[in-house]
Amino acid sequence: MLASTEIKDTVQAQKDFFASGKTKEINFRKEQLQKLKQAISDYQDSITDALFQDLGKPKFEAIVTEVAYCGEEIDYILKHLDGWAKKKPVKTSLNFFPANSFIVLEPLGQVLIIGPWNYPFQLVIIPLLGAIAAGNCAILKPSEMTPNTSQLVSDLISQTFDPDYITVVEGDKTVAQELLQQKFDHIFYTGSPAVGKIVMKAAAENLTPVTLELGGKSPCVVEPDVHLEYSARRIIWGKFINAGQTCIAPDYLLVHRDIKEQLVSAMKECIREFYGENPAESPDYAKIVNSKHFNRLSEFLGDGNIIIGGETDAESRYIAPTLLDSVSWDDAVMQEEIFGPILPILEYDELESAIAQINERPKPLALYLFSKDKNKQNQILQETSAGGVTLNDTIIHIASTELPFGGVGESGMGAYHGKASFDTFTHYKSVTNRKFWLDIKLRYPPYAGKFKFLKFLFK
Ligand code: NAD
Repeated sequence: MLASTEIKDTVQAQKDFFASGKTKEINFRKEQLQKLKQAISDYQDSITDALFQDLGKPKFEAIVTEVAYCGEEIDYILKHLDGWAKKKPVKTSLNFFPANSFIVLEPLGQVLIIGPWNYPFQLVIIPLLGAIAAGNCAILKPSEMTPNTSQLVSDLISQTFDPDYITVVEGDKTVAQELLQQKFDHIFYTGSPAVGKIVMKAAAENLTPVTLELGGKSPCVVEPDVHLEYSARRIIWGKFINAGQTCIAPDYLLVHRDIKEQLVSAMKECIREFYGENPAESPDYAKIVNSKHFNRLSEFLGDGNIIIGGETDAESRYIAPTLLDSVSWDDAVMQEEIFGPILPILEYDELESAIAQINERPKPLALYLFSKDKNKQNQILQETSAGGVTLNDTIIHIASTELPFGGVGESGMGAYHGKASFDTFTHYKSVTNRKFWLDIKLRYPPYAGKFKFLKFLFK
């Protein structure tokens, strides 16, 4: 853990590096992205090992959701960076003739990236790609709850970059708070809404802009007109990947009464198909991150009736994939984000009632609707608000480099992925450049006799 003076020195060293102007060169940024891609490739086995030690994350999931994801994003940025970073000419009002106008894209400077524990590798690396692409220096603070991955990220970054450019500061919330005392040009935070408020307060002291990637209860609505088997499969996959510890996992199901029984039995079948008769023995099922979360989640199992699952093992921090029936909004499981392998099921008779239940609560990070009916799809899109939506599947809107990812309202502010990452860490500087070969006196005092021209300004 770095002492307070070391943190200050690290911050200052990066400010000096940024002032050298090196990071503003597009070729420099591209080289750093390529170096990082190579490092991730070289470290691939260590990354998946660390994720296994911290979360029991199956190797397949680790590669798909953490490693390959970074590679794809780097390739996309490299392909588009020249175009994104170019000066952008825009029109100029005739009132200022002769002049031309353009937007210069400049890096913000030095940024702080604070990460959570559930996808502890990619949730600090993907924001970093945007910071690099936009020409910034960065300090990363990975989550202390996944210590192996935190150490791995620190090793990988220190082997790849000059610490005056990009570095990792490991530690718990006291370190995070020490970092938050420093003056950054942007803070990119991923984690809980409660800590998001602390981060935003600290940032306000320095008027530092923030991106807050938060969480919340993401609903999954199922209408009767769906392909039952595919729907069940897609819901179970999205809920139980990483043992439900996914910010955009379906938190709870709102299912139409007419289809509930069939959907439940298809989902039970799916759980058996994915994880076997005893998921505790499945190599494809992750564990709960620590005993605090294990205990928190275990309490929820007392709410409602368990349809399938419910088994736990404190020592291995195992909680079986669980479907929970007969829950109400008053139950603890419905009062906070679950963030674990428990799926409560509520039923409704009319889509309007499902929409009303969603709208009575904070805007979710993700929303899922299963329905083939275009009118119903439009109705949900029009009448609810959410950070992002997948129709007829779960999770996958997060995986597109073309779609900005982020929350709205209490689920967060700002967005990233692809171009949105570049924009998050870039200042769009507006420039008007006047010429000297003409200077019409119309706008200068004295104004007497010039009022008749105002009608052209405001018609
Ligand atoms: P957390 O807020 O507890 O921790 C995240 C980071 O904040 C860690 O690095 C931690 O050290 C730091 N931190 C903790 N307490 C702090 C404090 N008092 N002051 C300053 N820093 C502090 O979140 P978590 O438990 O790691 O993650 C779970 C939450 O994150 C869930 O709500 C989940 O939905 C959300 N999440 C959101 C996204 C997204 O992309 N929107 C992704 C993953 C997780």
